[in-house]
Amino acid sequence: MLDSNYETPKVKVIAGTTGDWEIVIGLEVHAQVATKAKLFSGASTQFGAEPNSNVAFVDAGMPGMLPVINEECVAFAVKTGLGLKAKINLNSAFDRKNYFYPDLPQGYQISQLYHPIVGTGEVLVEMGNGTARNVRIERIHLEQDAGKSVHDMDPSMSFVDLNRTGVALMEIVSFPDIRGPEEAAAYVVKLRQILRYLGTCDGNMQNGNLRADVNVSVCRPGDYEKFQASSNFGDLGTRCEIKNMNSMRFIQLAIDFEARRQIAIIEDGGKIVQETRLYDAEKNETRSMRSKEEAHDYRYFPDPDLLPLEIEQAWVDDIAASLPELPDAKKTRFITEFGLSDYDVSVLTADVDSAGFFEAVAQSSDGKLAANWVINELFGRLKKDDKDILDSPISAARLSQLVTLIKSDKISGKIAKEVFEISYMSNRDPVEIVKTEGMEQVTDASAIEAAVDDIIAKNPDQVTKVKENPKLVGWFVGQVMKATSGKANPAAVNKLINDKLK
Ligand code: ADP
Ligand code: MG
Repeated sequence: MLDSNYETPKVKVIAGTTGDWEIVIGLEVHAQVATKAKLFSGASTQFGAEPNSNVAFVDAGMPGMLPVINEECVAFAVKTGLGLKAKINLNSAFDRKNYFYPDLPQGYQISQLYHPIVGTGEVLVEMGNGTARNVRIERIHLEQDAGKSVHDMDPSMSFVDLNRTGVALMEIVSFPDIRGPEEAAAYVVKLRQILRYLGTCDGNMQNGNLRADVNVSVCRPGDYEKFQASSNFGDLGTRCEIKNMNSMRFIQLAIDFEARRQIAIIEDGGKIVQETRLYDAEKNETRSMRSKEEAHDYRYFPDPDLLPLEIEQAWVDDIAASLPELPDAKKTRFITEFGLSDYDVSVLTADVDSAGFFEAVAQSSDGKLAANWVINELFGRLKKDDKDILDSPISAARLSQLVTLIKSDKISGKIAKEVFEISYMSNRDPVEIVKTEGMEQVTDASAIEAAVDDIIAKNPDQVTKVKENPKLVGWFVGQVMKATSGKANPAAVNKLINDKLK
């Protein structure tokens, strides 16, 4: 259903004064590993804690302290690799990346430059309109996060918060396979979705738990195909790296600005200098941070405090066996199991929690109807209240009850909206609401007939009018619905009135 049916999306082309240009993008995504403890210490990773309260001696760079690897961080990295269909390296190793910074008390970051734990993988990035691109993953390595310097609390001093120091990050490096700003955003969306399904990163971009360094270069049409054939990065243009992006919108704006900046320089006879740049959202432009020449010499070397990391294939196999259903598989299954459209399924599976909620509603009711109610009523209502699906005031069990009431003709769709609102606001079971409030649909033909007869008897003028102009029959339907407080089955009412006024 999925992979083979997709066409390749169109490459974004920018027209310059000397001809067309294409964009080439590679992303380095930093995803915070969703473990309770840090990578090499038992300190908590909880967000929003009192500054410097989650700091073990080793995080603070105290002399003589030794790092001890957190097995769960390793397991989560492996799980992520498997979720991205990547090669798991049974042998990896940690290196020290040395640099001086106030929020890096050890004086180095422990990372994996030479032997990352995960090798090449791939992500299918859907672009809508039946197009998708396979973006290859180059590697994933584990590394420590740095702390946070705070410069805006005191006019004469800077402070440092080490809570984040030593928290485990997965750096997920893509190949330069992404060909436009929209694709870059779609790639981050898909990656985030997979990580959330896996439960290995919460994907919270506001808190900085998922952020991307965006590498951008431009080339002439045909050059990228040369690179594909040769795998020689020299066939591509010189790249610039935009650091620390944590918004899908800004990623797109930054890429667009950066590509145009590079094109203007080249067309002016200049050369692109490989450098690190920052995106300024207020001015919508990128600014140079440091060039390659000024780049640090990190003096990488294997961390002598840590043994090489050796894991066993059997352990990897156990993790593989425990992988949850991932977005692509869930989509395909929802389509076949519940008979839903591509669009509905994309909406329902966009987030792992929404997908779980929908499935709980659909399992014991009707799939198509459940999808309509979750997408149109529930999502709309939650959005209005700015609420997350996990905080939905109406539970999946209750929504399922409601859908079953509609499906079995106990209540009409119109009444159902009222029942939904009552249940949502007052924490009551739909079945109980319908019973207590007397909202059950009247399907009993004799009861409806009595109401119809009554209205006909009381309105002889209208009867004459309808006989002349059958289109006016709607008036009678309206009256009967009113007389039954909207509880009569509309189809039954229609049929009865038409029969009687023929
Ligand atoms: P560094 O550590 O110097 O940033 P990495 O190899 O870790 O280098 O990451 C480089 C990133 O830049 C990768 O995502 C890679 O795909 C991407 N990249 C490399 N060359 C280009 C290029 N010419 N244009 C765009 N992206 C590129
Ligand atoms: Mg980089």
